[in-house]
Amino acid sequence: MRSLYEAQLDRTELALRAVGADGGAQARLALGALDSALFEALHSAETAPDGPKAAARRAYLLGWAFYRRRLLRRLVKGGLRPSADHLRALFSGSGSDRLILLVTHACQLRCAYCRVRKYGASMDVETAEAGVRWLMRSLRRDVDLQFFGGEPLLALPVVRGAAKLAERLAREAGKTVRFLLTTNGLALDAATVAFLREHSFCVEVSCDGTMSAQDAQRPTARGAGSWAALCSGLERLRGADIPYQVIAVVLPEDAERAHERVETLAAMGHRRIQINYALGRYWTAEQAAALSRSMDRAADAARRLGVELVNFTRKRREPVVLNSELTVDCDGTVFRETGVCLEEDFQEMKKRFRVADVRRAGLFETYGATPFDNFAILASAYGQGSMRRTLLSNLEIGRSFAEAR
Ligand code: SF4
Repeated sequence: MRSLYEAQLDRTELALRAVGADGGAQARLALGALDSALFEALHSAETAPDGPKAAARRAYLLGWAFYRRRLLRRLVKGGLRPSADHLRALFSGSGSDRLILLVTHACQLRCAYCRVRKYGASMDVETAEAGVRWLMRSLRRDVDLQFFGGEPLLALPVVRGAAKLAERLAREAGKTVRFLLTTNGLALDAATVAFLREHSFCVEVSCDGTMSAQDAQRPTARGAGSWAALCSGLERLRGADIPYQVIAVVLPEDAERAHERVETLAAMGHRRIQINYALGRYWTAEQAAALSRSMDRAADAARRLGVELVNFTRKRREPVVLNSELTVDCDGTVFRETGVCLEEDFQEMKKRFRVADVRRAGLFETYGATPFDNFAILASAYGQGSMRRTLLSNLEIGRSFAEAR
């Protein structure tokens, strides 16, 4: 007997064939419904007690990962010549408009909770430019280019070269490109800030709140404090009127104190604040519940103090562990960054998320993944041990954050 999902797939195929008539609205709706149904089914299979029935259900659902590509092949086999509108309708719900360039694995800091593997590798300008050209060939009109590391400002010439090329290609293609940069804030000197301002960057700065927390949790590689340099960098950003948000990481053992971070950062004058729960760490049900209570208090504090708590806006995509931004590593390898791929402990898993070499990659959109696709890859990679437990605990926190919005 055909499953409900297969019947829905047939309906989706029909809707895709009618893209010319309705601009793809029905196909988008049908794909969204199918994706949500598959996601929920996989979630209940993953959280059900182990047994042969759960295992069979799980295996069946994992087989649906990336069904959009199979659907495209089916359409082509059935004689359809897909237009850009067909491809937009088929892939618009997967992936994002963003490409991340991981321009260096080096960093001046050695944060206590950091699991990013740090070594000397940096991206060369040619690889960064290949990433920019790939993004600019996408079907999307508005795109984001994000610079990430390690500490991306340690590879400033690469950031400069990529941004300039992206601006030129966007102009030529009639696209808009928005630049984002995630930084530890230590290298925000006057010239760098002027460059960020000139090219309309939005900046995310990691800041753990108080001097004692920052110096204890985010020391330099030589063991010195990082607070003073960070404060100077933040002052320069503010002085240049560059849009930025501060990000504080909360560990499971500090779960009940997340709201204090928000209050402290707001008192320091920061207007956009994001709390990141530590990924790749196991959260007990009690710690997750304590975080949820503390985030409710944080939301109240944010309202009272007139600051934006990014976690409860649509800008923040939860569960983070299932985000799927396409990321170009220093050597040109493209992988789906899911929030854990950078982590030291997950190097084996990262291989599962490799998708292409940026110099030879095909159409940007076709590499996107939905939260269901990412869940399926994670579930087939994390096995049955502690990694599964850890990632499912991260997933549950993300689901509760999404529901709380
Ligand atoms: S600044 Fe980021 S990359 Fe550097 S040590 Fe801290 S968490 Fe890791």
